Amino acid sequence: MINRLKEDLIRSSAIGRVSNRSVESYGQLNSKMGVTRPEGSPANKTLRDFTVKRMQAAGLLVRIDCVGNIFGKKDGFRNHEKAVMIGSHLDSVMNGGHLDGALGVFAGIEAVRRLRDDDFQNQRPIEVAAFTGEEGSAFVVGTMLGSAVLTGKMRVDEALSTKNTAGRTLDYVLTEIGYKGGFEYCADDVDAFMELHIEQGPVLDNDDMSVGIVEHITGITWLKSIITGVGNHAGTTPMHMRQDALVAAADAVRFLYRRAQEMAISLNSSIVGTTGHLNVIPNNMNVIPGMVELGFDIRDSSLDSMQQLTDEIISFLNGLKRENGIDVQVESPDMQVPVKLSEEVIRTIEKSAVQAGVSFRKMASGAVHDARNMTSIARTGMIFVPSVNGVSHSPMEWTEWDDIEKGVSVLTGALKALSAC
Ligand SMILES: [Zn+2]
Repeated sequence: MINRLKEDLIRSSAIGRVSNRSVESYGQLNSKMGVTRPEGSPANKTLRDFTVKRMQAAGLLVRIDCVGNIFGKKDGFRNHEKAVMIGSHLDSVMNGGHLDGALGVFAGIEAVRRLRDDDFQNQRPIEVAAFTGEEGSAFVVGTMLGSAVLTGKMRVDEALSTKNTAGRTLDYVLTEIGYKGGFEYCADDVDAFMELHIEQGPVLDNDDMSVGIVEHITGITWLKSIITGVGNHAGTTPMHMRQDALVAAADAVRFLYRRAQEMAISLNSSIVGTTGHLNVIPNNMNVIPGMVELGFDIRDSSLDSMQQLTDEIISFLNGLKRENGIDVQVESPDMQVPVKLSEEVIRTIEKSAVQAGVSFRKMASGAVHDARNMTSIARTGMIFVPSVNGVSHSPMEWTEWDDIEKGVSVLTGALKALSAC
């Protein structure tokens, strides 16, 4: 049964890969040769064309909306009812893996084929979706473009006038590759949405679980700060006369790390804190750092915990001022709140996993996905499959075939349940 999907994934794994070679096993991956399929690139067009053909071969009616989202529809017995939508995205990061996004689209097509195999009559219509520009690797908009338009978070004209890194608008690029459709998908037409995706983290692989049922999609706080000391000669300035911005910054880095670790243990939570950006000025071996720009990333499925850690790091930064005779500026934090997925859809997926005899655990998603946008218009659920060694956004991204098969079985069962009523 897995063979059709396996063939789709193997064939599509060659698209946008430096070597043009397809990959069938972990051993064939090469850490230097990932896939590069930013939105509107030739590889993106090739993958879109391949996907449309596979959708049509599965008997789906393919439509392209005005921002290039691809929808493949299987009519329902009661076709006027709101649809059950399943899918993900086809674009990739630069030199990434071939499963991120594409797995969810091809698994969606496979789930529909299995419904046909089983002579299953869906009551609600089913739509398999491939969203435009999720990764933002070509069109940088800070949100997942295609699903943002579908859910009304971004206007169509705003999306179409967005320019890619080469200065071309989305309108121009979609027209050029033949994926500028004419219609606007109506958000009211979706009842439920499910996205099968690779975990992109180590939890399932570590726990030896085949499937993750996502309960929350993490919230994210981005916080920027500038610490200003006095840049001076590294040789002539005595130790007691220094105002070293980097030493103060190092304390802040350590503080966030330690507090996130402590909170994760004491609250038994998924909270994480990272100082991912550090710009040391002038960054010369023989000069005391006069200024450091820092960027902090705090994520959790609990808004309260995120808020607490954000408040703590802000007051720590402000406290550095007094201690070290330096100046600290803290920008107001940019916060995306965590979202809870639909309890009904979670229960449906869980039932399907039990029926299929698949081991699963419930978990939070530490990365954002199109599903996050979809929560505002539809009952939404996500199914994760393990990433080998927790690696993603890398040429070494891999999920074992057996786990993919289990994920698709769970998706198919849940799709039957949601489209039956
Ligand atoms: Zn993805």
